[in-house]
Amino acid sequence: MFYLGNRHFTFFTEKAMPLSRFNKIQLGVFPTPIHKLPRLSAHLGGPQIYIKRDDLTGLALGGNKTRKLEYLLADALAKDSDCIITAGAAQSNHCRQTAAAAAMLGLECHLVLGGQAPNVANGNLLLDQLFAAHIHWSGDKRKGEDIPNIVAALREQGRNPYVVPYGGSNMIGSLGFINAFYELHAQCKDAAMPAEFSDIVFASSSGATHCGLVLGKEVCNVSSRIIGINIDKDEQGKDSYKSQLHTLIKDTANKLAVGYPADIDEIQLKDDYIGAGYGVVGELEREAIALCAQLEGILLDPVYTGRAMGGLIDMIRKGSFSADSNVLFWHTGGAPALFSYAEVLQQVD
Ligand SMILES: *Cc1c(COP(=O)(O)O)cnc(C)c1O
Repeated sequence: MFYLGNRHFTFFTEKAMPLSRFNKIQLGVFPTPIHKLPRLSAHLGGPQIYIKRDDLTGLALGGNKTRKLEYLLADALAKDSDCIITAGAAQSNHCRQTAAAAAMLGLECHLVLGGQAPNVANGNLLLDQLFAAHIHWSGDKRKGEDIPNIVAALREQGRNPYVVPYGGSNMIGSLGFINAFYELHAQCKDAAMPAEFSDIVFASSSGATHCGLVLGKEVCNVSSRIIGINIDKDEQGKDSYKSQLHTLIKDTANKLAVGYPADIDEIQLKDDYIGAGYGVVGELEREAIALCAQLEGILLDPVYTGRAMGGLIDMIRKGSFSADSNVLFWHTGGAPALFSYAEVLQQVD
């Protein structure tokens, strides 16, 4: 059943029991579709590739943050908050979806964005403005460094602000992706689907998607490999990201009283694809975006899914998957950022 704009709390069926005591609001259109990518699979000559279309979550051009926000903003409402604050890059998909959800709920939204205001607001930033988000540019400061000051100023005005963490990634945000795994598991009951996927591949950056899929696999008791493609953590940052991820998994599992893979080495994070760093488009992303567009009519994004699909394509070419495996690529959204990358993506003859 589709209902967009339903602001009531949703209750879960018995199967989703570990999540049933958490507040949730409906912000998107679920379940998102799953389908095969037949022409890309044939082109690569490897495993059968399927795609989970979280680019179609229905909230303001879609994306994975919708799932996290269904829990985070329910928590904000339960705490009687009247304004939402979060942070991200200028082209943050997370900030765009947060601004849209806040507008939908009638909450004021403050975004702390990295760097300076550009001359022209396009892509996600244009959309943030359309949702009338209050934008605070962080300049040379770290993203989010100003959040405590903004919170204090709002409290001073008698407001009750709610801080959504970077990328929506904390225990509450992770619930959205445990729920997503239940959704996937239910879709796999369809005879046209594999009973379970051998591998699930996705972009991993702030962690709640990764955490939720790892725990979702546990609660649904399936054996899929959960393979995150590291988007932006370099040699110095990758170990601390992995231990942060491990802590998030452990804490969320404890909160839900479910089992979890105790060993940090069981977390699969592929570190080979960060290229020249966050948001820098290279040949890997360019080829993945072109192949998906030209063979399947599907838009990837320059920062996350272009890189994650580039990683998957490389792994397929290197023989990481047997030909009879069923690999699910979890499309996490992001296409609105394509327009702000026109200069690096356009084809000039
Ligand atoms: C935020 C984001 C991700 C990363 O998800 P995390 O839960 O932050 O790891 C992947 N893809 C897109 C398009 C995103 O916006």
